[in-house]
Amino acid sequence: MPFDIIIAQPRGFCAGVDRAIEIVERALSSHGAPVYVRHEIVHNRYVVENLKKKGAVFVNEVAEIPDGGVAIFSAHGTAKAVLEQASQRDLTVIDAACPLVTKVHREAIRYHKEGYSVVLIGHAGHIEVEGTMGQLPPGAVHLVERAEDVTSLSIPDPERVAVTTQTTLSMDDTAEVMAALRKTFPSLAVPKADDICYATQNRQNAVKSLVETCDVVLVLGARNSSNSNRLREVGERAGASAYLIDDEESLNPDWVKDARMVGVTAGASAPEVLVKGLVNRLVTIGGTTPTYQEGTPERITFPLPIEIA
Ligand code: SF4
Repeated sequence: MPFDIIIAQPRGFCAGVDRAIEIVERALSSHGAPVYVRHEIVHNRYVVENLKKKGAVFVNEVAEIPDGGVAIFSAHGTAKAVLEQASQRDLTVIDAACPLVTKVHREAIRYHKEGYSVVLIGHAGHIEVEGTMGQLPPGAVHLVERAEDVTSLSIPDPERVAVTTQTTLSMDDTAEVMAALRKTFPSLAVPKADDICYATQNRQNAVKSLVETCDVVLVLGARNSSNSNRLREVGERAGASAYLIDDEESLNPDWVKDARMVGVTAGASAPEVLVKGLVNRLVTIGGTTPTYQEGTPERITFPLPIEIA
């Protein structure tokens, strides 16, 4: 049976991802290959493979980078100790941390200096969370993932508690954790501007609106991409069948065979070429000419670091 296709707006690359990729490309053209990137510059295999072809070498640890090399640190932000380790070596260091992640780092540091216990809402083991926790001495950041975790927090002074969050969380889940924190710590200090970034919020809102008309939502993004996983969850919770896929080859035609309308979106680290590939495949298996969701265009850009501008 034919089905309609609607493409989310906004979707795909955010300003922080655009900037991080440009940093690697500029480093390659000004320093020549290879340049060394610690961790995936952004969580997307297509992006990483593309940069590898241009001469980027991805490493897990600074120790793997040879003396005299160019060391680039990923958009997710990096622990202070790791950046210090790199700066003490004979390396050209370029930090591609998204400015909105750096904003969270600064908040955590400021709260800590002002004597607050810092609570971070985020997913244990995620690279951005490790980077944010690594801005303060070990044990100084209290990580919570769910509202239930709040009761087990051990905080010396309940009157001096501040909260920061990972930038790519579900807005709805975070609101629940925040409510639990406010209940337990009525004087909770919160940042003036939301830590969940504009790109995460806009993409989640777009999916909520897609589900008003779509029975299936396909999210392009990597398994280890936090914001992409959240988009799938938002779609599912709003009542659609929602799937997270790497590319058009991962599409199972059974998912859409009974659909009336299929929504397509992409996480903040998934390039538009993947959206085009998926839409083309959908058209070959019964999709009609795609339409685009109405949505506010994003015009945010971030300046490049001075080392590379
Ligand atoms: S998802 Fe948000 S925080 Fe992450 S790189 Fe993009 S703009 Fe920055």
